[in-house]
Amino acid sequence: MEQTVVDLQEQRISVLDDLLEQVNVTSLLDSWGPEKVIQVYDPKIKMEGILVIDNTARGPGKGGFRISSGVTPTEVFKLARTMTWKCALADLPFGGAKGAINADAYSIDKIRFVKTFARAVSTFSPDQWVAAPDMNVGEKEIEAFVEEIGSMKAATGKPERLGGIPHELGTTGFGVGVSIESTLEVLSKTVTIQETLENLKVVIQGFGNVGSELTKYLANRGARIVGISDYWGAAYNPKGIDASKALKHAYACDEAHSIKGCKGATAIARDDVTYLNCDILVPAAISNVITGQNASKIKAKLVFEAANNPTTIIAEQTLFKRGVLVIPDCIVNAGGVIGSYVEYIGGSPDEAFAMIEAKISQNTRKVLKSAINSDTITLPRAMAMKIAQKRVSQAMHRRAGQEL
Ligand code: NAD
Repeated sequence: MEQTVVDLQEQRISVLDDLLEQVNVTSLLDSWGPEKVIQVYDPKIKMEGILVIDNTARGPGKGGFRISSGVTPTEVFKLARTMTWKCALADLPFGGAKGAINADAYSIDKIRFVKTFARAVSTFSPDQWVAAPDMNVGEKEIEAFVEEIGSMKAATGKPERLGGIPHELGTTGFGVGVSIESTLEVLSKTVTIQETLENLKVVIQGFGNVGSELTKYLANRGARIVGISDYWGAAYNPKGIDASKALKHAYACDEAHSIKGCKGATAIARDDVTYLNCDILVPAAISNVITGQNASKIKAKLVFEAANNPTTIIAEQTLFKRGVLVIPDCIVNAGGVIGSYVEYIGGSPDEAFAMIEAKISQNTRKVLKSAINSDTITLPRAMAMKIAQKRVSQAMHRRAGQEL
C-alpha cells in the first residue's frame, strides 16, 4: 500500500513520542509532583530500575514495584500518581509512589535483581517509599527487598511469618464486593435497580486474585455470575455459572486450565464476555479494555473498575451519556492498599478486612451521593478526584507552613 507524506510524518512523530516517553521526565511535572524520579543502573548484572515518588505530603509514598520489560518512567509515574489519589481517598497517611525493574521476569535471577534494586534505592525506603508486590513480584521478592533494606517497614505484602498480610487473602476482591453492595444501596433509592445482589447478573473479566475472590463474595450473596473470562477465553451461562466449578479454573497459568473449560458453561470468545447482557460488569484484568471503540457495545448498567485504568476517558463519558455509571478504580480496588496499611501498623488480617469494609463502603456512598446531589451532572470519578485532591492540597499547605 502506498504511504502518503502525512502517514510517514505521523509514524515519525509516534516513534519520537515513544522515545521521548522513555527519557523525558520533565514533561510529567505538575503542581502535585512527582517529587523524585530516580533511575538506577547496575552495569554488572545490567539491572535497570525506576522509582517515582510522586507526592509525600500525606506520608511516605506507597506503591508496589513490578518487573516488566520495556517499562518506562512515564508508565511508572502514572501508576505512582494513581497511588497518590487512591491513598488520599482512602484517607491513609501515605502519599503515592511506584517502582519498576526493566527486565524480562522469566529470564533473570529475580531475587538477585530485587536485592540490587533495593540497595540502589535504599536511601529512600522506608522514609519516603513503602514498597509492595506488583506484577511479577510476590512475597519472596518482598522478603528479599526488606532484608536488603534492613527494615520491615520498607514494604508490605510480606510473608505471614514476617507479620505480613498477603494479597492472596483476597483483600482487593473483598473490597470490590463491598463497593458493589454499597452502590446498589445508594442507587436503588433514586433509580430502578434492586438493592441487593440476589440474582443480579454479573460479568467478571479476569480470573486471577481479584476476579476469583470477588466470585466467592458474589456467590455468597446469591448473585448470578453469567460470564467470566481469563487470558485464554471465557465461560458463559445465562442461568449463572456454578462458582465452585469456576473456582477450579482460578489463577490458570495455561490454556488447558482456562475458565473457558468450566463445566456447566459454554465457551465463548474471550472479549465477547464484555458485551454480555448483564447488570454489572467488573473488569479485573488489564488496563484500557473499555475504549471509545467498544463502549457503545457494553450492556451493563454499572461498571466497577477492579483493574487499574480499565476504562478510557472517552469510554467513560460515552457510557455516562447512555446512563451507565463507572465506579472508579481509586475507590473500588483500594482494598489492597488499605490491607497494606493495616500490615504497616502491625494489625491482623481481621482488622484489615474490617477497615476495608468501613472505608470502601463509606467512600463509595460519599462519592455517589455527592455526584447525585451536585448541581451539574458529574461523573463519580470527578467527585472522587475532588475529595482526593482537596486532601493532598491541604497536606501540601500544612507541610509548606511547617517549612517556613
Ligand atoms: P492476576 O494476575 O492474579 O489475574 C489477572 C487475570 O486477568 C488472569 O486471570 C489473566 O488470565 C486475566 N487476563 C489477562 N489478560 C486478559 C484479557 N485480555 N482478558 C481477560 N482476562 C485477562 O491479577 P490480579 O492481582 O487479580 O489483578 C487484576 C487487576 O486488578 C490488575 O489490573 C491489577 O493492577 C488490579 N489490582 C489488583 C490488586 C491486588 O491486590 N491483586 C490491587 C489493586 C488493583
